[in-house]
Amino acid sequence: MMREWMWPTASEKDPNAPGDEDLRMIPRWSMVLAILLFAGMQYIFHVVMPHHKHELLPLRLMMGYAWGSLVASYALLLGYVSRDVKRRGMSAGLWMLVCVVLPGGIGAVVYFMLRQPVLSRCPNCSTAIAATYHFCPQCQFQMAPVCGECHRGVKITDVFCTQCGHDLARDGAPARLRVYGD
Ligand SMILES: [Zn+2]
Ligand SMILES: [Zn+2]
Repeated sequence: MMREWMWPTASEKDPNAPGDEDLRMIPRWSMVLAILLFAGMQYIFHVVMPHHKHELLPLRLMMGYAWGSLVASYALLLGYVSRDVKRRGMSAGLWMLVCVVLPGGIGAVVYFMLRQPVLSRCPNCSTAIAATYHFCPQCQFQMAPVCGECHRGVKITDVFCTQCGHDLARDGAPARLRVYGD
């Protein structure tokens, strides 16, 4: 196996590295699959299909290329989804199944509409934090403003808790706004 084919795994990457890492999100198996599918499409159009009409060769070349590109990009898309689900804390098996089973890329469209935000890191202890968390599960660092009475999430501009009616001003700025104040 040639070293150039080795792509960095998720564990080798610096989670705090700036910039978009989307290009690194495509795993090797999906690239190989894309090349195989593209080659397979050429095989189908030029070998399997009957060629009694030789004047249609340009059309056959075009169709082979178009279908090959389509299935190859679908393989790359599947590879991207398989890695993207992990950094969003979603079910990989379920979403791969949705993308494969729903025809014509509809599964992928559904995935991109419903996918969760990328997991962030706790500023205090670097634990992976979902967007819905109000506190870090490992060190209790406050990730979002919450009501001091019922501890449900509140908006930063709210004066009263929408769930229990607690007067949020009585919580005091340090407790309520710690995540924004630091
Ligand atoms: Zn933490
Ligand atoms: Zn409340």
